[in-house]
Amino acid sequence: MLTYVKKSIFDCIIIGGGPAGYTAAIYLARAEIKHILFTGFQPGGQLISTNKIENYPGFTNGISGYKLMESFKAQSERFGTMVKDNSVVKINFNIIKNLHEIILDNSFKIKTKALILATGASPRYLNIENENKLIGKGIYTCANCDGFFFKGKKVAVIGGGDKAAEESIYLSNICKKVYLIIRDKKMKASKIMQQKVLNIKNVEIFYYHKVIQIIGEKKLQAIYCKNITNNKNNKNYLFKVEAIFLAIGQIPNSLICKPNIKLDKYGYIITKSTITNIPGIFAAGDVQDSRYRQAITSAGSGCMSAIEVEKYLLKTTK
Ligand code: FAD
Repeated sequence: MLTYVKKSIFDCIIIGGGPAGYTAAIYLARAEIKHILFTGFQPGGQLISTNKIENYPGFTNGISGYKLMESFKAQSERFGTMVKDNSVVKINFNIIKNLHEIILDNSFKIKTKALILATGASPRYLNIENENKLIGKGIYTCANCDGFFFKGKKVAVIGGGDKAAEESIYLSNICKKVYLIIRDKKMKASKIMQQKVLNIKNVEIFYYHKVIQIIGEKKLQAIYCKNITNNKNNKNYLFKVEAIFLAIGQIPNSLICKPNIKLDKYGYIITKSTITNIPGIFAAGDVQDSRYRQAITSAGSGCMSAIEVEKYLLKTTK
């Protein structure tokens, strides 16, 4: 199988095994476009780390992230998608006109006429002790997705931008108390968002505070925050919360695109209807979307990218 893959020239290679990549695969397979999908380090993508998805249409009672992504995979395979769990470590663009080459983690080189980059994004974490083992057990990155499970509880939001403000507003309607913990002296969120947050009674803001300790064994029990001003009257706090929601940014997985593919200042791929600056190279899902970052929007753009690939191949190979 691998020798076949190595010797072939594919019409399209999909990099990424999340909602965007698999949706693109379903469309390419049904259009009988010769393709292969590489899942990389996180087969199934970000949704794998969430217990229950309640906002993906079609599932009245919700569905686990794992099950949803297994269905995406099975559906694409039913139509003939070849799925491999390798990572792509390098892309050589236009080795000859309209032909690109990817290099895998096992050093295999594979050629393709088109490429869909669906490598997603990774949430930025605090990178402190105990964090890794409590992700999904009290540490979350999406209030829309997991806030519901903390109805009537005390939670904290970490961050001071628009996302942190949005998360706080959303959680304030569900939770008993929301602590908003901001490292700076003020919020970076837009004025309107700031005002909205300030007007909410059950949101309490702590400026100049930095999370320095995460407490809990099997689930989160508390966080310890240090006051980072020099003023000795200011206190450090222990927040006994059942969940924290990190809103400290996302890191798009776009390293393999550099320096050829145009990225914005945050590293997101710049696209117009999934089309990038290089002919034949398309991008879908979170890696090109700093705004919506949802499973449904990723799947939608995966579909768009496959349709664009079909049009591109028709134009360039006739
Ligand atoms: P991803 O899901 O990030 O998948 C990217 C894929 O690319 C992965 O398979 C990865 O291994 C692969 N990849 C990356 N680099 C390489 C490489 N070099 N080579 C090969 N493969 C590579 N959204 C909702 O709509 N509802 C929810 O309830 C919800 N809950 C969430 C809960 C959590 C904890 C998180 C983190 C996110 C949640 N989201 C939710 C957001 C949603 O998961 C993302 O918007 C969506 O998964 C993005 O899909 P994607 O296909 O663009 O990328």
